Amino acid sequence: MPPKLPLPPTTDEQSPSDGSIDSARPALPSVNDESSARQTAASGLVAGITPGDSQPGAVLPQDSAPARPTVRRQPPTRALKPGDLVCGECGEGNQPTRKFCGRCGNSLAAADVVRTPWWRRLLPRRGAKVRRSGERPRNRRGKSKLGAAFGAVFRVTRRVVSAVLVIAGIAYGISGDFRSWVNAHAIALEQDVEGVVLPQYAPVAPVEITATSELLDHPGASAFDGFSNTFWAAPAAGPEPVLVARFAQPVTLSRAIIRTGARDEFQARHRPHRLHLVFSTGRTADVELKDNPDPQQVDLADGAGVTSVEVHVVSLYQSVKGTDVALTEIEFFTEQ
Ligand SMILES: [Zn+2]
Repeated sequence: MPPKLPLPPTTDEQSPSDGSIDSARPALPSVNDESSARQTAASGLVAGITPGDSQPGAVLPQDSAPARPTVRRQPPTRALKPGDLVCGECGEGNQPTRKFCGRCGNSLAAADVVRTPWWRRLLPRRGAKVRRSGERPRNRRGKSKLGAAFGAVFRVTRRVVSAVLVIAGIAYGISGDFRSWVNAHAIALEQDVEGVVLPQYAPVAPVEITATSELLDHPGASAFDGFSNTFWAAPAAGPEPVLVARFAQPVTLSRAIIRTGARDEFQARHRPHRLHLVFSTGRTADVELKDNPDPQQVDLADGAGVTSVEVHVVSLYQSVKGTDVALTEIEFFTEQ
């Protein structure tokens, strides 16, 4: 009795063990073997296997298999420094002078360079300075230790101030509240600075004006009336014309603005050239004027504690056909 072959479960169920079927089964495999052999021979050209030949046959062109990555990306083994080249394959950090990765051997031609973050550039540098190949230190001859220290402090200060200005500028651009706060304080600061750099002047008006000589229509008071279309006029032929201005209390005269001549008929009358000021304190000041109708500013040095001032017309710019001298306005100011 031949050994019983394991049968598929379907046949097993169909027929219990009986000899007639069992003997017919072994014939089937032989037929199957022949057909499969023929099949193999027919498809041998495509598969590249010729029956009974161990040599490989012709192969149709195929795409080359992609190279399998042999390296895995891993964290670098050393702390990355600015300028380091980061390997694109394995992620290792390499010194800038290297051409190939020290860990995986890949080319570093297209490697990423580690950049210095912007905030680090603002901070003072620590540790030894690393120079590029061929870079030389600047000539520091003649620079004292104190000078070097001052320079270092200045550099740090400059960086900090720049950073603060940048941040403040961004805040100014973004926040409306901050903007209005800055504007309000900037105006106050501007006024403070003006007070220090540009002193403020307040006008000082005399309470009584007399002139040693004056034309009827052009009294001395016209020189202090605040109008530029009225003027004081005095005959040039007589004695030296003098204006006297009195103040209610002692004042410090620090500046005068003078308009000379008669504005609307400038050439028709003489114009004062030199004025001699005599203060009630006994001090004096000499003022030289230009021959034009524009306001002329004069700073007075010795006008402290003055209760009155005499303005003597010492010399003239001559008018061709004029007979008297004209002066439009004198304004006195005290510094606050
Ligand atoms: Zn690498």
